[in-house]
Amino acid sequence: MRRAPVTAGAPHPRRPMLRPLQCDLWDDPAAATRKERWEVMRELRHDRDHSRSLLRCRLCGQLYLHERYEEKDWDSGDDSVYETLIPVRGDEDADEIMADAPGPMHLLAYFPRLMLDWPRGAREQRIRWVGRDTPGRVA
Ligand SMILES: [Zn+2]
Repeated sequence: MRRAPVTAGAPHPRRPMLRPLQCDLWDDPAAATRKERWEVMRELRHDRDHSRSLLRCRLCGQLYLHERYEEKDWDSGDDSVYETLIPVRGDEDADEIMADAPGPMHLLAYFPRLMLDWPRGAREQRIRWVGRDTPGRVA
């Protein structure tokens, strides 16, 4: 896909985000926790507490940018773990997100995204799509 030319000072061109209707995760987000579904295509960032990779759904081929972010609780050892999956078209989308949204908070601007939250003290993981019906990106 060709990118529109960028002129100096112009806002970065943005392509609309995806709604992966064909992926079973669209209707069954909890199925994202099954590790065997994922094929790792590319590691984008690898730190102990913050990693990102480009994953491929083995069932439908859909690509997702995956982030895992861990918030350490040194006192109790009960850490919070947040995972985010953003459907993308390919490397170009992934690179764009890496450049525009380097930190965990930055991903909150992307819709739709699949979130798997396990905050400290929670009994179970909270899994849901955010912005399922409003694809886009908040500047
Ligand atoms: Zn799929």
